[in-house]
Amino acid sequence: MQRQRLVILGSTGSIGTSTLDVVARHPDRFDVVGLSAHQRVDDLVAQCLRWTPRWATVPDEPRARVVRDALRAHGVPTQVLSGPQALCDMAADADVDSVMAAIVGAAGLPPCLAAARAGKRLLLANKEALVVGGALFMQAVKQGGATLLPIDSEHSAIFQCLPQQRAHWAETIDHIVLTASGGPFRQRDPATLHSVTPEQAIAHPNWTMGRKISVDSATMMNKALEVIEARWLFDLPPEQVKVVIHPQSIIHSMVVCRDGSVLAQLGTPDMRGPISYGLSFPQRIESGAARLDFAALSALTFEEADAHRFPGLHLSWAALRGPEGSTTVLNAANEVAVAAFLDRQIGFDAIYRINADTVDAVPPQLGDTPALADLLALDERARAHARQRAQELAR
Ligand code: NAD
Ligand code: MG
Repeated sequence: MQRQRLVILGSTGSIGTSTLDVVARHPDRFDVVGLSAHQRVDDLVAQCLRWTPRWATVPDEPRARVVRDALRAHGVPTQVLSGPQALCDMAADADVDSVMAAIVGAAGLPPCLAAARAGKRLLLANKEALVVGGALFMQAVKQGGATLLPIDSEHSAIFQCLPQQRAHWAETIDHIVLTASGGPFRQRDPATLHSVTPEQAIAHPNWTMGRKISVDSATMMNKALEVIEARWLFDLPPEQVKVVIHPQSIIHSMVVCRDGSVLAQLGTPDMRGPISYGLSFPQRIESGAARLDFAALSALTFEEADAHRFPGLHLSWAALRGPEGSTTVLNAANEVAVAAFLDRQIGFDAIYRINADTVDAVPPQLGDTPALADLLALDERARAHARQRAQELAR
């Protein structure tokens, strides 16, 4: 068995640390060669002491100096790099086999593209990268000969249910069903949603995750982003991607086949499951996730997603049917709106208004084959509009 040389982009986050947890169980399989952090440099230093990677990347030189000094004091030879280009260089380096893309938000797109173009085995948690640049991303995967492995639990579930040969996917799938827990406000009176606090919004019933995706789960914008992610990963038209609420988060998603059979993937809600599958595909390795105890399970239940309670969910299908770039605009608006909500500038229900208004107000106007720079310029235009809306809606 050949050892995998692994870079983890966003190693200090929820997915990043879960990845290191799985890797630590298999010292014979993986070499951690690159790590990256945005703000939590102390955590990054601790990770470098434990893993002695070849590289560690932070956003700027002042933070790089802090990390360098700390590592030098411990005699750790890690090279400390800084800036967005360093993330791309690390992800594309010839001495790297696999890249875990676990940065949150559109900031993760450039290094994902770099890894895809360099033909890496690319483990994709960073769903926003596909939402911002789906067509460009998938083209880079194809041209670079990369192996794209979904880490989002729903998409990993679909991937695990599908035939291993991609050529058979289209003839297999009638439609797919992404499951959604419904988040913390599934049963709350929608009329009271304007008063929820960031603390209430990030208290997810089943999963422990980063703050942004936790808010996205509460608005169900997370599922909206996942519908768009699925469209690209599995090359499906929007109408073949459906969503159902399944509050227990035991069935991680389902494929409804052409013959009416339904294939589902089940497990305890623990991201180490899909992460380990991405790391070991096509084999399976110990992940640390608890085994399902069927005798202790209560019922598995399903509900329709309530459009009145979760209006954001439907923005996904609308954006996929809109002009190219509409999903880029939607994602940018949502990143701005969630940050404003977490900063207590706007109420929870303003997130949807900002997202819907920005998609209406910012025409993408992309050419036929938009490049990364075009997408990033559109992303910036949408952010500017969303920031202005957030100011208007400020409490
Ligand atoms: P997180 O906030 O816990 O971690 C984000 C990581 O990205 C951190 O290491 C941070 O330092 C880094 N980062 C943040 N902003 C950055 C920037 N501008 N430039 C470079 N690095 C930056 O987030 P998370 O919950 O681990 O989620 C990461 C990604 O995985 C997201 O796209 C999320 O949607 C997806 N995802 C997460 C889960 C989960 O259970 N946490 C499940 C499915 C998918
Ligand atoms: Mg998910």
